[in-house]
Amino acid sequence: MSLVGRKLAVVSAKCRAQASGKLPGTERLFKSVAASQQESSSTPTHIAASGQSLLHRSAKGGHFQTSRIAHASPSTSPIYETTTNATTTSGWDPQAFDVSLLWLRDLCECSRCVDPSTKQKLFSTVDIPPNIQGTRLPSSDDAKITLRWTNDIVGYGNDHVTTLSTEMYSQNSRNSSGGPLFDIPARNLWLAQHFRAKCEDMDYEHYMQSDHSVLQALQQLHTHGLLFLTNVPDSEKSVSAIVERIGPLKNTFYGSTWDVRSVPEAKNVAYTAQDLGFHMDLMYMQQPPHLQFLHCIRSSAAGGASLFTDSFRAARDLWVDDPDSVRNLAQLPVNFHYNHPELHYYHQSRRVVELKDGASLDSLPSGEQGAKMLADAIRNVSWAPPFQAPFINPNAKKLEEISGETLIRWHAAARKFSEAVHQPAGIYERMMRPGECVIFDNRRVLHARRAFEVGDAGKERWLRGAYMDEDPFLSKTKVMQKLQATV
Ligand SMILES: [Zn+2]
Repeated sequence: MSLVGRKLAVVSAKCRAQASGKLPGTERLFKSVAASQQESSSTPTHIAASGQSLLHRSAKGGHFQTSRIAHASPSTSPIYETTTNATTTSGWDPQAFDVSLLWLRDLCECSRCVDPSTKQKLFSTVDIPPNIQGTRLPSSDDAKITLRWTNDIVGYGNDHVTTLSTEMYSQNSRNSSGGPLFDIPARNLWLAQHFRAKCEDMDYEHYMQSDHSVLQALQQLHTHGLLFLTNVPDSEKSVSAIVERIGPLKNTFYGSTWDVRSVPEAKNVAYTAQDLGFHMDLMYMQQPPHLQFLHCIRSSAAGGASLFTDSFRAARDLWVDDPDSVRNLAQLPVNFHYNHPELHYYHQSRRVVELKDGASLDSLPSGEQGAKMLADAIRNVSWAPPFQAPFINPNAKKLEEISGETLIRWHAAARKFSEAVHQPAGIYERMMRPGECVIFDNRRVLHARRAFEVGDAGKERWLRGAYMDEDPFLSKTKVMQKLQATV
């Protein structure tokens, strides 16, 4: 579907044109889409009966009321009204739009309603009178709707006019917690071979200089959660520059940047030879970082390779194999802590699989079909075995969330998830070289370090790291999308 077609479809979901009658201007535009969707072009009366329409004809004197609100509390009187007078020649026809006058009034962005320079709203939604009335003014522009208000907010008078574009209409109709946002590609859950095939390294200078490149980087961090930059200058400040290309650094008790250094000595290679297992950082914080950045300044000779794997892919595979395990991981809590009470003490209870607001796995089908839907429902994964805190005592009966039995269920599910995480085909292994910087989604892509080898003795491995929150990442993505769309 084209961009225009999609926008109209969004509009048509909100605006149901009347099945008959002459509809001028924008209404005709909306109607042509609505008419192609037979099931949604029912008459207002019929829609009202099913409680779906916001506006329907009331018993008294040809007024229109909001049936959705009336439906919710049938004993209350009508809240939004507009007169039938307004439906004649030049008037606003409430039957033509399945929207609330409150919503339309609240959208007003005229200079009296939204400060043109600060973009802050100059009225409060609660100040809109419940009995506000709107009249549609004639317009020669099909892409605009102009409304004049009576019974408006105190102080506005009868000359206040709201002009809405179809773009405002559709953008604000998006039912997305991300707010108005251009299309972003779906997440692409990967095995190592897919990541290698799809995702090329990006040159540092391109990333720093080109808007097109940085948008590409941001989109890859959304679709794959993992990106490598090359030719990064050999400076301790490089990692900050890379972060600040997107937004501010996230400061933590580790500092706004920090070092990961290892100098394996021959006598303790046995010790350092341990793999550092797959984990995410700072799971013990209420707001763990969204992105992690690691700039390789020195590398060891043979070992210490970096490993990455897509935990969403692991959850999807587990769903196909055993959906109840994923349900358990989305339900049962596990604790994480940073347990140094003399300096810092952080503690957080999380679900291994964290769902988006309003998402539920209850009715998801099993198999591949459900697995696809699962990928859309997951917001984050929480996996950090080294920072796991004790489970709450299962015998403390006042706590309903965990019992001996739920702990056994969690354990069985977590073992299966761990197996999916460690599936060799899912692991992208890379010996990071000086001048490379990895950026990854810390709530999706698990990272680990391969063991050092004997040849590494005396050779320093030095990575400089930094974190970033999700807000600046989302903001920059939207800004760059908008910029690229207008180029
Ligand atoms: Zn206004």
